[in-house]
Amino acid sequence: MFENRVFKLNDNPDNKQGKYVLYVMEASQREEYNHALEYAIKKANQMEKPLIVAFFITDFYKQSNQRYYRFMLEGILKTKKVIEERGIKFIIRKQKYTEGTLDLGKESICIVLDRNYLKTQRTWRKEISQKVSVSVYEVESDVVVPIEIVSEKMVPYAYLYKSKIEKLIDKFLNPVEKLQPKVSSLTLDIESLEIDSVEEFLKILNIDKTVSTVENHFVGGYDEAEKRLKIFIEKKLYRYAELRSDPTKDYTSNLSPYLHFGQISPLKIVLQILKHYNREDENVKSFFNEMIVWRELSRNYCWFNPLYNHYEGLPKWAKDTLEEHIKDKRDYLYSLEDFENAKTHDPYWNAAQKELLKTGKIHNYMRMYWAKKILEWTDNPKTAFDIACYLNDKYALDGRDPNGYGGISWCFGNFDRPWQERKIFGKVRYMNDKGLERKFNIKEYVNKYDNDF
Ligand SMILES: Cc1cc2nc3c(=O)[nH]c(=O)nc-3n(C[C@H](O)[C@H](O)[C@H](O)COP(=O)(O)OP(=O)(O)OC[C@H]3O[C@@H](n4cnc5c(N)ncnc54)[C@H](O)[C@@H]3O)c2cc1C
Repeated sequence: MFENRVFKLNDNPDNKQGKYVLYVMEASQREEYNHALEYAIKKANQMEKPLIVAFFITDFYKQSNQRYYRFMLEGILKTKKVIEERGIKFIIRKQKYTEGTLDLGKESICIVLDRNYLKTQRTWRKEISQKVSVSVYEVESDVVVPIEIVSEKMVPYAYLYKSKIEKLIDKFLNPVEKLQPKVSSLTLDIESLEIDSVEEFLKILNIDKTVSTVENHFVGGYDEAEKRLKIFIEKKLYRYAELRSDPTKDYTSNLSPYLHFGQISPLKIVLQILKHYNREDENVKSFFNEMIVWRELSRNYCWFNPLYNHYEGLPKWAKDTLEEHIKDKRDYLYSLEDFENAKTHDPYWNAAQKELLKTGKIHNYMRMYWAKKILEWTDNPKTAFDIACYLNDKYALDGRDPNGYGGISWCFGNFDRPWQERKIFGKVRYMNDKGLERKFNIKEYVNKYDNDF
């Protein structure tokens, strides 16, 4: 079950005198199908000691806002409850991840961490593994096929990633069995914030509260993710290949916020789908192409390219061609504020931005259009890249995710090939409003998001 998913981050031995095994939950915020949690239970059972799970919440980062904190807290409070029902103490502290882990790690046998692909979170893990005297294990649970098994370097195209994954995937389609802890930790006296309401939690956090919450569109939690998955399998998947790109229709899973916070496991999604559908079904193939190939390719990109969230991280040909066209006249030029407030001349672009502001997500097809137009209407591609990242990370529930950096960089040429040269874009693939009009009833999309603005 843990094959190729567990990495030892330092050379320290387990501390046999320790009081408990510590699992620090961060990337995989769930109880089910969580390899890190089950691995931590296994370690605790081997030593006949209790396991404690810790979740650290911080408000030290200026970009943190109540939109996604609310979603995350809705999820984490539900996860706490189901983990405690298994006899495992779940500690929540308002403390930095590294500080909190070092603190609780002092009395531990060993520390188990889940894997995150982004720079800051990787730095935290590295720092912890260097500073503690106990062993630290990192467990990868948020991809179907562990990324370093697929490749030890950056893979430039989705078709290459797909062909590699196809050869490996069968080995990794195993259910994650729940292990029963031998020793309960519920009675351990360890300081934890005992707040069980999301509202109360938000009150004690000094985060940006100017961004609206979106609970009318998305409520956090493993149970909500399960509901969406059920609806997707029963009512949408049979037409996914045909309708997934149409922004006027609701035929995608809407699982990205849940996947982003690890409230549902991608492996579980795959196994659930395969209970109802044949793997050769064209809709299943199309969905797996997005949720396994593209999603895991984005993780490969962030893991192997430290400049993943910067314009400078793009492939050379893309930067060269964009720079050759840097002086091309732009028909429209907008500032960050214009973009943020959906104040461009283009009703389709504005509708996409309004979808983001209102719901916390943009339909995939419109997301491509949205970022391509930021590139077209900004005086240089580097600023455009930064604006797209800023808006996506600030307003999207699924933002701050490898998929966001993968998706934005795709719009600037990454994972793509050169196309016919044209102004501003050079050889980077272009998109225009005529395409939207030809393919979809795009006015319907505009009407949907124009209300209330
Ligand atoms: C400019 C731009 C920015 C994006 N920013 C994000 C982001 O911040 N977070 C995010 O999760 N996705 C992002 N995407 C990818 C994609 O748009 C979303 O994953 C998708 O729209 C989520 O909706 P869904 O869950 O209904 O998708 P479905 O079609 O139901 O797909 C299922 C899952 O597959 C994954 N997936 C789907 N499409 C892609 C893709 N193109 N690349 C990687 N993974 C994919 C997602 O995890 C998604 O939840 C971005 C794409 C672009 C072009």
